Amino acid sequence: MSELHKFLFEGLPVRGMVVRLTDAWTEILKRRAQSSTGAYAPPVQALLGEMAAAGVLMQSNIKFDGALILQVFGDGPVKLTVVEVQSDLSLRATATVQGAVPDDAGLPAMLNVRGLGRCAVTLDPQGRQPGQQPYQGVVPLSDADGHSVQSLSQALQLYMRQSEQLETVLVLAADDKVAAGLLIQRLPIEGMGNLAGQQPAEAELYEAEMLEHYNRIATLASSLKREELLTLDVETILRRLFWEEKLQRFMPHAGETGPRFACTCSRERVGRMIQGLGEIEAREILAERGVIMVDCEFCGANYRFDAIDAAQLFTIPGAQPPSTSAIQ
Ligand SMILES: [Zn+2]
Repeated sequence: MSELHKFLFEGLPVRGMVVRLTDAWTEILKRRAQSSTGAYAPPVQALLGEMAAAGVLMQSNIKFDGALILQVFGDGPVKLTVVEVQSDLSLRATATVQGAVPDDAGLPAMLNVRGLGRCAVTLDPQGRQPGQQPYQGVVPLSDADGHSVQSLSQALQLYMRQSEQLETVLVLAADDKVAAGLLIQRLPIEGMGNLAGQQPAEAELYEAEMLEHYNRIATLASSLKREELLTLDVETILRRLFWEEKLQRFMPHAGETGPRFACTCSRERVGRMIQGLGEIEAREILAERGVIMVDCEFCGANYRFDAIDAAQLFTIPGAQPPSTSAIQ
């Protein structure tokens, strides 16, 4: 069963989380394998799995009331990868691939061939009003010197530093059975306002001491191997890494309250998308093919609109054209 575990380091401004997606992840892969596009190449599968694990960690880290959408836009054979995690931890994921991805392709060869790849995190609030823009933060997949990042975790750590101003360690791994991740984050020191009233030297000393603690924990977390993350259970991982630390554990999220696959597509949403195309284009497709067929890339559901269905979309009183937002 897929699970998410949260914990704090007692007395220290550091928190952590481990996610292991099993059934939620294999369901996503199974649906893809059954679709007309077929199964992902192993490096794409690994990347998308890492994104799924990271998406769950980031969503539960900020507890956002709405969808957290993690996207990577690539300039290589992998054009787009998307993971969407709702506030109840239900998630879906898909990737658009054009051309062959060799089995040994790394992130630069898949997504950042010309240095134009980028990673975006979008927060789309629940019940967003028309015209209200979702928040979006974007980081390039290359550093200031033009060197490509080598892993998704590297790009996301950069994003966290920029957007949340919080030092974060992310270790991610995925194969065809498990997508897993560990997140360790340094929290702002509580009561710094009070400390500021003390002797500056004391506050400085305290901060330096807390930084030392964080650095030690971050080094331990970074020592976690991909293989360990994929094969060990959460208890073993935490014991091996942090056996000398005092952890305060919280009730794990699993089963109905845990990470799980769910798609938010519906006939109504697809109808709005067709309205967005406009009546002229919809008629052209109907004239050519007799029916408008839309497959959901996330879950494989197939939606058919014939001429009568389509006519209704454009004639129902009160049917509103959708907003022009890119987010469906
Ligand atoms: Zn769907």
